[in-house]
Amino acid sequence: MKAVVVNPNSTGVEVVEHDIPEIGYGEALVKVEYCGVCHTDLHVAHGDFGQVPGRILGHEGIGIVEKLGEGVTSLKIGDRVSIAWFFEGCGHCEYCTTGRETLCRSVKNAGYSVDGGMSEYAVVTAEYAVKVPEGLDPAQASSITCAGVTTYKAIKESGAAPGQWIAVYGVGGLGNLAVQYAKKVFNTHVVAVDINQDKLDLAKEVGADLIVNGHDIKDVPAYIQEKTGGCHGVVVSAVSKVAFNQAVDSVRAGGTVVAVGLPSEYMELSIVKAVLDGIRVVGSLVGTRKDLEEAFAFGAQGLVVPVVEKVPIDSAPQVFEDMEHGRIQGRKVIDFSL
Ligand SMILES: [Zn+2]
Ligand SMILES: [Zn+2]
Repeated sequence: MKAVVVNPNSTGVEVVEHDIPEIGYGEALVKVEYCGVCHTDLHVAHGDFGQVPGRILGHEGIGIVEKLGEGVTSLKIGDRVSIAWFFEGCGHCEYCTTGRETLCRSVKNAGYSVDGGMSEYAVVTAEYAVKVPEGLDPAQASSITCAGVTTYKAIKESGAAPGQWIAVYGVGGLGNLAVQYAKKVFNTHVVAVDINQDKLDLAKEVGADLIVNGHDIKDVPAYIQEKTGGCHGVVVSAVSKVAFNQAVDSVRAGGTVVAVGLPSEYMELSIVKAVLDGIRVVGSLVGTRKDLEEAFAFGAQGLVVPVVEKVPIDSAPQVFEDMEHGRIQGRKVIDFSL
């Protein structure tokens, strides 16, 4: 089978011929239909989290169960399932047993610590593979497996309630889905903040009530405070320290800033403001199996529609190179039927 793997020098990816993997107890073999290409894959390919040459990439995989290992009771042949970044937890630690399994210290991550979904066949741990509901387009499901569930969970973490104001800093692939979940699922008013007008226009199209271009507006937090009275929650998907600092100043007293983007920097947080205004700052990492099941369900209802572009597996090295140089618009999804 063909697979996209980290190259021997951990400087990028290559497409190789790979053996179809064997399955063990509790595992299932999945014939992959689609796998999205994410910025996290680029980090893995470059060894940013530690070098893993030869690792099959991909954590936005969707495919059909073709074979079951011994002991599998949660899946049947023909089920459509996901291959997600949260691939498997230990199942018994304090995080796994209290609804915070993505924080498990023994977590396995698809396409990083174990082989992922960028290959014609992939292995999943049956109990951790989330089923894709009927009515959800599998290419769109691939996007929900990472970007969708990440933003859905982040808005949950903000404590968003109907009628409240939620700001989304950075409305690219991730942020655009955040706008959709905030508006259509949580029934909030949404502010979209970016420095790219095309992305802002797209955010407006999918439901943002107010768009703010950081290039045009001098004092973004002051503008947001004036227009909304301060947001109840802010989700920061932008990979920029400036956005994090502005986010803190965009919330009202009692507001929550949810960090999703990963700039390798520190944010400035006024201790006085944090105390006197009772501001919460929380990090949010992908989502649990239950979060993904919910994120899929809202996709199947048509409330959230990821925009994807299908590409053949042989174009993967080019896609990674384009991503590295910021030339990607929207989500590229490897279509294994092409
Ligand atoms: Zn991803
Ligand atoms: Zn655990």
